[in-house]
Amino acid sequence: MTNNEIRVRFAPSPTGPLHAGNMRTAVFNWIFAKKMNGKFVLRIEDTDVERSADEHTREIIDSLHWLGIGWEGEPYYQSKRTAIYEEKITDLLAKNLVYPCFCNDEQLEMDRKAAEKKGRPPVYVGRCAKIPQDEAQKRSAVEPHSLRFRVPAETLSYTDAIRGEVTVNTGLIGDFIVRRSSGVVTYNIAASVDDAMMGISHVIRGEDHISNTPKQILMMRAMGFSGHPIYAHLPIILAEDGTKLSKRHRNSSFGDLIRDGYLPEAVFNFLALMGWRAEDNAEEMQVEKIIAEFTLERVSLRAAHYDLQKLDWLNKHHLLHADADRVLSVGRPFLKKIGPELDALPREKQLLLVSAEKENISRLDELEAGLEPFLHYSLDAEARSAMAEHQAEAVGRALLSACEIADYQSAMDDVSCAAGVKGKKLFMPVRAALLGRLKGPELKKIYEFLTPGERKSRVGTFLKLLGEK
Ligand code: GLU
Repeated sequence: MTNNEIRVRFAPSPTGPLHAGNMRTAVFNWIFAKKMNGKFVLRIEDTDVERSADEHTREIIDSLHWLGIGWEGEPYYQSKRTAIYEEKITDLLAKNLVYPCFCNDEQLEMDRKAAEKKGRPPVYVGRCAKIPQDEAQKRSAVEPHSLRFRVPAETLSYTDAIRGEVTVNTGLIGDFIVRRSSGVVTYNIAASVDDAMMGISHVIRGEDHISNTPKQILMMRAMGFSGHPIYAHLPIILAEDGTKLSKRHRNSSFGDLIRDGYLPEAVFNFLALMGWRAEDNAEEMQVEKIIAEFTLERVSLRAAHYDLQKLDWLNKHHLLHADADRVLSVGRPFLKKIGPELDALPREKQLLLVSAEKENISRLDELEAGLEPFLHYSLDAEARSAMAEHQAEAVGRALLSACEIADYQSAMDDVSCAAGVKGKKLFMPVRAALLGRLKGPELKKIYEFLTPGERKSRVGTFLKLLGEK
């Protein structure tokens, strides 16, 4: 805040499986940091020790790595910073800007219902705000209590980098809790202390946090920090059914996207489009282009759509343009059955196979089924029954004699001539004879991948299977 360094943060709470919406926030912050030559820090918001779990922190870290997002230094853990928050709270208590609240849950619930009845906002009624400071102090030594921030009555304005001037009547906020009676400090105080102390220049986060922003600005001011970060609230994400994306929606957990076989660059691209577009409206983009074109001003106010068909489409295109090497390494976890057999092939053959197959799939979880017929021959039922309509046997016999020919086109010319067929009548049986399937990569690639010996043995099996009525 005091210098001009651009510093953003991703501040997830490790209280459940990582959500795609959270990762959209990470992606936008990281892109912005890259674009502005700034820093991106990772802050794990785990003040609520009971709800936080190491496995979720691990997932956050692994998922960021998976996406190719790195951060500055070590992650910050709020659970290790409680002494700092407590010190700030002590200062605020001394200044009477924070006060103990002795209201119990039943009272608060009654207040809430009464407010609802009168059509008032469900904010704290301020009962304990009036207790004199010395009396409050004495009672708090013996009575259970939370601590509340005393919200000054005013009209607060700040400029949101996406939505422009935002004005809030603080009377609608109510004195909010900074430390629960259990002793846990709340998100709002921890986040404002940290954003200020970590020199965060821009807070980019989902619009569901927009109601927290005035609270955090007020607290930073009360704690004596000068100014506050620039805030930018990203639009809400809607699922395919038109409701806010939440964990009950299909593939909304980030782990699902990894498990379902999307490439990291496709997921990154997909998330970057959740509320932002390039000037030329390009859809498929590499990360470099996204960074080059990104501005907060181009982030939309309109809801973003979590359209999984678009993700499939993007993934297909990224697969098409990715190196076979990369597809092979990212695809490795999806090759459960045939992994070792694939490894046994010379490297260039592995790459040949993957580069042929990646054009036919939309997701990496389809890779194994696509590669399998190259490693084991069997004539599938669809191919078997289609052969009835073709002069499959004549083509098979001609192909058996042509298997030694290295050049694909010459071999096909020979087969065509010998069997007296061309076009589909030629290619379908050849495909079935060599791959055992009617679909798959270009025939030329299949032919060239197989050695003459493999071709012969496959065609032999094919003819034998055709003979078995
Ligand atoms: N821990 C909060 C969350 O995960 C962070 C919100 C913020 O960015 O301030 O929603």
